[in-house]
Amino acid sequence: MSQRPFNFSAGPAVLPESVLRTAAAEMLDWHGSGMGVMEMSHRGKEFQSIHAQALATVRELLQVPSEFHILFMQGGGLGENAIVPLNLSGGGAVDVVVTGAWSQKSLKEAGRYAQARVAASGEAGGFRDIPDPRNWQLRTEAAYVHLCSNETIHGVEFHTLPDLRALGCDAPLVIDCSSHILSRAIDWSRVGLAFAGAQKNIGPAGVTLVFVREDLLDRALPLCPSAFNYRTVADNGSMFNTPPTYGIYIAGLVFDWIRDQGGVAEMERRAIEKAGLLYAALDGSGGFYRNEVAAPARSRMNIPFFLADPALNETFLAGAKERGLLQLKGHKSVGGMRASLYNAMPLDGVRALVDYLQDFAHRHG
Ligand SMILES: *Cc1c(COP(=O)(O)O)cnc(C)c1O
Repeated sequence: MSQRPFNFSAGPAVLPESVLRTAAAEMLDWHGSGMGVMEMSHRGKEFQSIHAQALATVRELLQVPSEFHILFMQGGGLGENAIVPLNLSGGGAVDVVVTGAWSQKSLKEAGRYAQARVAASGEAGGFRDIPDPRNWQLRTEAAYVHLCSNETIHGVEFHTLPDLRALGCDAPLVIDCSSHILSRAIDWSRVGLAFAGAQKNIGPAGVTLVFVREDLLDRALPLCPSAFNYRTVADNGSMFNTPPTYGIYIAGLVFDWIRDQGGVAEMERRAIEKAGLLYAALDGSGGFYRNEVAAPARSRMNIPFFLADPALNETFLAGAKERGLLQLKGHKSVGGMRASLYNAMPLDGVRALVDYLQDFAHRHG
């Protein structure tokens, strides 16, 4: 079979080829059960084993401490923007660090349920850097502090999470890690809750992973829907209502793949290598291409870049597609290009992209 193209989509995004092949082989009959996974009761022993295995593997991969519950929910990242304040805010103060489009959306949605306020913002600088945590305006009465640890659109990543206690703030930290989960370790001592939509680095759209510390389970507002109440979901092992069963199955296959490749440490090593290659090519292009994010805040996962001459954008994209380099168009709010280098993007894909960047610059520079 000929090689598949390299898919740089920001999400839904590339999955490991071996996972897709396993899923295809098991489509009609999972492990001799006579059923495909989509056809199984979520309460049957077959799916219960798929669910338990996926949970155990992700807990091991991310070294999640026992005081955290891991929930498979629905509603995506934007769903969590409402579900988090419904569960944690008590209708009170919420502080949000705004570093790009996704935390901006979180701020807006939290404002519907809580007194959400900007603790710091990178907007004046065009979201090209992370505001220094020592200057964040954190309120003592805040129910939680929210940040997006990897801004998928603006390409800004927290390479260390802030230690809120050291900043004089006792509130739990909530992180939206949708677009870089499983590409690096998470320092759980600094986090109260983490959430991630699956469609970037885990699996198909429709599953949302939530990691929530035990002491945060019982703060929901009365109007919080039962299916989105963390205590209810946790007490029912993510089976209060029908969970997204097929998505959980694929996520489990991806977790197994990561473990077999060497775990999160290996994913991080590869991410550093892949992102390093691409940034070096952009920075070394003599201004033909540029990424505008401050070096210490550059994302390893989502790399937006611009051609000095935007009139070449369409030619660039068409030529990329011809070479089997797909979905490089930047987000409409930012323009230009964006390459997403998730775990399932092989090093060869980044090499092929770098070759193309150099070739194209040579021909049009
Ligand atoms: C993609 C993304 C989301 C949105 O997820 P939906 O599933 O579309 O609601 C939220 N946050 C981040 C950081 C994302 O990358």
